[in-house]
Amino acid sequence: MSNKLVVTDVDVKGKRVLVRVDYNLPLDEKGEIIDDTRIRVSLPTIKYIINSGGKVILLSHMGRPDGTIQESMRLTVAANRLSELLGQEVRKTSDCVGDEVKRVVEEIAPGNVILLENLRFHSEEEENDLFFAKELASMGDVYVDDAFSTIHRDHASITGITRYIKEKCAGICLAKEIEYMSKVIEHPDRPLIALLGGAKVSTKIEVIKALLSKVDGLLIGGGMVFTFYSALGFSCGKSKVEEDFVSIAKDILLVSIAEEKPIYLPQDVVVTPFISEGASSIIVGKKDIPADQRGVDIGPATVKKWTDIMDNAATVFWNGPVGVFEIERFSQGTRQIAGFLAGSPSISTIIGGGDTAAAITKLGLADKMTHISTGGGASLEYIAGEEMPGLTVLPDKK
Ligand code: AMP
Repeated sequence: MSNKLVVTDVDVKGKRVLVRVDYNLPLDEKGEIIDDTRIRVSLPTIKYIINSGGKVILLSHMGRPDGTIQESMRLTVAANRLSELLGQEVRKTSDCVGDEVKRVVEEIAPGNVILLENLRFHSEEEENDLFFAKELASMGDVYVDDAFSTIHRDHASITGITRYIKEKCAGICLAKEIEYMSKVIEHPDRPLIALLGGAKVSTKIEVIKALLSKVDGLLIGGGMVFTFYSALGFSCGKSKVEEDFVSIAKDILLVSIAEEKPIYLPQDVVVTPFISEGASSIIVGKKDIPADQRGVDIGPATVKKWTDIMDNAATVFWNGPVGVFEIERFSQGTRQIAGFLAGSPSISTIIGGGDTAAAITKLGLADKMTHISTGGGASLEYIAGEEMPGLTVLPDKK
């Protein structure tokens, strides 16, 4: 359970409060925001500081400019949207360090909000350069980390900065993320069922292993399935099998038998000759994938079986779409699972960010889930029990 000091435990009155947020927003080709969730989740912390008479100085990155200035990655669009949501002006500086920025920061009054320009315009951010971290720290009296999605990174604005600021704590959104995620791995309401999907086994091996010891059942969907099928000797046609991971998949299946932790693979799959919008598709049994086709979604018998299993669960942790949900025709499995969970208020549903969160938001079901994490990679690393550098540097409550 998280015991980190939270901003609401800290006296911020009259102080300059540096808040690390994640405004790495999805933008369309015109540079307009597709989804402003990342701004919305930061509002409780910002409003708390404003209402407590603190001065808000926001730090964020956007994209991967790799230490160069990229006009398309300026944070102006984020400042404008935040300003609309807060109903007050949010000034954005032209850089995140330097004399001009310091001057602007010195001028702000209690209750004001400014957003510093993209941290990653300086390569020192990702290098965790301590001089750069000290420069950032010099502009604040208190440091608040409210960006769960970057908590697994060892960057200047996340870890380095905390060396030079005495008062530091978690933001409201970060504290909530840790509360839900730690509950899943430490003391979940049982039965606990995990559903893992997504493109590849290779990126989820550690989380599969970690979850297997904790769950009461593990459902595996998405492109990962075919590496497991291959481990069982099934033909997978043109589906993506990660050959280097077939023996690891076999070991995982053996552990599941030995530890009596059932792993459920799909019993039927949707297959197609091509992954494209207009392609034809059929439903086949798990052992009947034609040689010239590839698996792109779970079939209806699997949806029925899995929703029956989840119906008996108290907690469901879900990460990764169970099919190629970006294509309408192959999104049925993901849609139906999301719809089932949305209609099951007695199940505590924790969604592990990334594409699953995007799919659920696209379906308009986000407010029906218990918790949707803002960090795909971070939530998986957290669940896998990996060290989170950004959390280690934050103090516990006294
Ligand atoms: P991840 O980031 O690992 O969670 O992967 C998400 C991606 O997995 C999405 O873009 C899906 O289209 C993709 N995906 C899900 N099922 C499959 C499948 N059967 N074959 C290929 N890709 C898949």
